[in-house]
Amino acid sequence: MSDYEAFRARARTWLQSVAGEFGREARRGLDVEQDLALGRRYLAARFDAGFAGINWPTEMGGQGLTHIEKVIFDTEEMGFGMPTAYFGISLGMPVPILMRFCEDKAFVKERVLKALRGEEIWCQLFSEPAGGSDLAGLRTRAEVDGNGWKLNGQKVWTSWAQYCDYGVIVARTDPTVPKHKGLTYYWVDMKAPGVEVRPIKLAGGDSHVNEVFFDDVRLEDSQRMSPVGGGFAVAMATLMIERYVATDSGGFGPHLDLFVDLARDVEINGRPAIEDGRVRSQIARNHAMRAGLESITTRAMLMMQAGMEPGPEGSLNKLVAVRSRQKLSELAIDLQGNAGLAFDPHASQKENWTASWLNAPTGRIAGGADEMLLNTIAERILGLPQDHRPDKGVPFNQIPA
Ligand SMILES: Cc1cc2nc3c(=O)[nH]c(=O)nc-3n(C[C@H](O)[C@H](O)[C@H](O)COP(=O)(O)OP(=O)(O)OC[C@H]3O[C@@H](n4cnc5c(N)ncnc54)[C@H](O)[C@@H]3O)c2cc1C
Repeated sequence: MSDYEAFRARARTWLQSVAGEFGREARRGLDVEQDLALGRRYLAARFDAGFAGINWPTEMGGQGLTHIEKVIFDTEEMGFGMPTAYFGISLGMPVPILMRFCEDKAFVKERVLKALRGEEIWCQLFSEPAGGSDLAGLRTRAEVDGNGWKLNGQKVWTSWAQYCDYGVIVARTDPTVPKHKGLTYYWVDMKAPGVEVRPIKLAGGDSHVNEVFFDDVRLEDSQRMSPVGGGFAVAMATLMIERYVATDSGGFGPHLDLFVDLARDVEINGRPAIEDGRVRSQIARNHAMRAGLESITTRAMLMMQAGMEPGPEGSLNKLVAVRSRQKLSELAIDLQGNAGLAFDPHASQKENWTASWLNAPTGRIAGGADEMLLNTIAERILGLPQDHRPDKGVPFNQIPA
């Protein structure tokens, strides 16, 4: 057995041993606060079992293993329905970026350990009412204030902000230069005076996204994680990671095994749906597609392992996975007939086809809208001409708003 297969077997054995305590069945009927509390206990157990921060340095509390072991663990974990969603962004982007770009290493180490154990959560404060796809168009400003900074403005769609302790944020520090050049990157204490979080209710009934307001929030200069005016490069480094962690091959919807189970349970014309050629071909298509996306991710991980930056092909991941999840969820609803329309506000989008379908459109926007991913594929993979950019090189304060 290869080392990787031995690792997979060890991970699976541990996951099976705790599935009853933290997995799908244990979570049924819990409200968000209870599920989050269970999630924190799961992360602590995962840390103690030696499966946290798999590809992170041991001096930061990680396991010092490779990106491949990380993908193996994530793929195995995905099938158990563990309560990890609250920590996905935190451990996916902000905390790795903190490890890479924050110079106060003692602070970083303490934060990383607490984040790995689920004791602290980080959010990503990028999008604004006028700065989503066009991130560099953001208007939240940080102004010099003595030896630190003063932050004013508004972010929107910030996932899990109401449960977060810290966030990473991009703000405009110089409006007189072209938009990409006047941005600076910081970390911010979400409990600091002047930070206000207002949850937004989504169509599925949940409120995991928020508006966040900053009113004269004090930032120390030690909270700065980029050169002044050099924040866009750190934001891009964050988004490069996001291309690989913003989704799994199931588009953050139900595992394909759950569709197979459903197709065995329901009937078409008096026969199990699994015997229907159209249903079988959808299962085969989705299996092939998911395997293809997992290969792209594995290849990217191997590149990172070899010290290279993965290419723009990461843009395919979310585009293909979430679109496919939406179509598969629609088929699953159809197969269930009237029962497919029953709405359970507590149902998880990773287990319930109706919740998955209702929630899928947000997945096609979050972390880069479909059209933006198509632009990247057109320009960076297919080599087509660039999108029209009329504000290129124009000082930010001279762009008509
Ligand atoms: C569930 C959810 C969670 C999110 N979580 C976070 C978070 O934690 N942190 C965070 O910072 N943000 C988060 N976001 C915000 C998300 O990143 C933005 O919504 C997204 O980048 C799109 O920006 P926008 O909403 O401003 O839409 P816009 O940029 O205004 O886009 C509107 C429409 O125009 C299209 N469009 C825009 N520009 C172009 C172009 N050049 N070419 C072609 N079409 C174009 C878009 O594709 C889209 O269809 C989240 C969003 C959602 C829905």
